[in-house]
Amino acid sequence: MSSRRDEMLKEMGLWPRWRLRQGDAPLGGSGSAGDSPAAAPLVQGVHSRGYLPHLKAEGGVYFVTFRLANSLPGDVLRQLETLTPEQRSSQIDEHLDAGYGEAWLAVPEIANALRNALLHFDGSRYRLQAWVIMPNHVHLLIEPLGKHSLSEVLQGVKSVSAHEANRILGREGAFWQPESYDHLVRDSGDFDRCREYVLQNPVKAGLVSAAHEYPFSSGFRGASSIAAKHVPGRAGGAPALRDDRRTRIMRMDWSELKACVASCVDCELHARRNKTVFGVGDEQASWLFVGEGPGADEDAQGEPFVGQAGRLLDSMLAAIELKRGHDVYIGNIVKCRPPGNRTPQPQEALACEPYLQRQIELIKPALIVALGKVAAVNLLGREATIASLRGKVHEYRGTALIVTYHPAYLLRSLPDKAKAWADLCFAVDTMRGLKERVTTPI
Ligand code: URA
Ligand code: SF4
Repeated sequence: MSSRRDEMLKEMGLWPRWRLRQGDAPLGGSGSAGDSPAAAPLVQGVHSRGYLPHLKAEGGVYFVTFRLANSLPGDVLRQLETLTPEQRSSQIDEHLDAGYGEAWLAVPEIANALRNALLHFDGSRYRLQAWVIMPNHVHLLIEPLGKHSLSEVLQGVKSVSAHEANRILGREGAFWQPESYDHLVRDSGDFDRCREYVLQNPVKAGLVSAAHEYPFSSGFRGASSIAAKHVPGRAGGAPALRDDRRTRIMRMDWSELKACVASCVDCELHARRNKTVFGVGDEQASWLFVGEGPGADEDAQGEPFVGQAGRLLDSMLAAIELKRGHDVYIGNIVKCRPPGNRTPQPQEALACEPYLQRQIELIKPALIVALGKVAAVNLLGREATIASLRGKVHEYRGTALIVTYHPAYLLRSLPDKAKAWADLCFAVDTMRGLKERVTTPI
């Protein structure tokens, strides 16, 4: 088993090129700094700055591992001391994947706190190329940016997360093993292998059957299919991850749903939002307008469509004698602002979709108006152009749906305002037809 691991690490170029990063100070209060045998270098390998074809050579991309202070028990550490450095390196990985120690990172609240800390400066101080939070250790593929050094970046992430985790656990003392281990990525092949290693770690450790099912990794794709198994490790250790998110959301009432969204961290958009934007209006409205996601104004105020596009939407509503809050509800595909107003990524829309689905179930609108392509495509679940979707009555889970242009697009493209007006007239006709059908039994 361990020789297979050695071979795999060698094949992936990950072994024995580990380097000890000693810049990290002990964290989380008094504790184990220096008093653990593991504080000695595992393997002091070559740290060569190779040629990186498409990666920035200056600063470089690092494959980093750090672990919990108690992730390797004393007897294991003593046994490891008897091995050669190379044997030790591979054995340590195996012990980590076996989930030794308290496995605090398998507690979702703690993993979320660490994820928040990791993503907080992603894109400004560093770029995370891949990451995974395992029950007792963390792997990152990370590129420090500008003047920010890897040591400083790791120190920041570990310090903030240790503080938060100790608060959640109601404990004091060292949370992280002080050292981290890093390996400078040599070239694009090395990069791909490291990335694969990071993303596949939960599968290799037997936590999930496919990388995309593991929620605490950059490879996570969707919240509905988490099939996590019990986390290996000490009996009575960390709770197993749950797979019932959608079911729970579908049982929520308005106040539970609002509270759940307000504290949601289920996709990466949570990291940079100021306010979640739940939706606004008459909770028994006949009309539901769905946009794409909050912009800067909405993110600041916590209400959808309050900026320039929102003013145009209000005018569009007024043109058909509707008013925000009166028989109208306004929501979005994602509840948190995508950075720089970029289009929400499929996994973000997917993670947020149960909230909108539940809102629609609670409102029971007669007609949904999808504003723009992102809303239309996500609600209908298929790729299409706005041109091909306009002028027809579609369906979202049994509710009539029509499609028109997004107000922000109309602000840039005046000629299409006439078409949007035609869509609104079509929507009014459709609504009239729907209401007649309800009031005139055949
Ligand atoms: N654009 C949207 O799609 N939604 C908003 O809430 C604001 C602007
Ligand atoms: Fe949660 Fe939706 Fe915000 Fe993502 S966008 S964090 S799923 S509320």
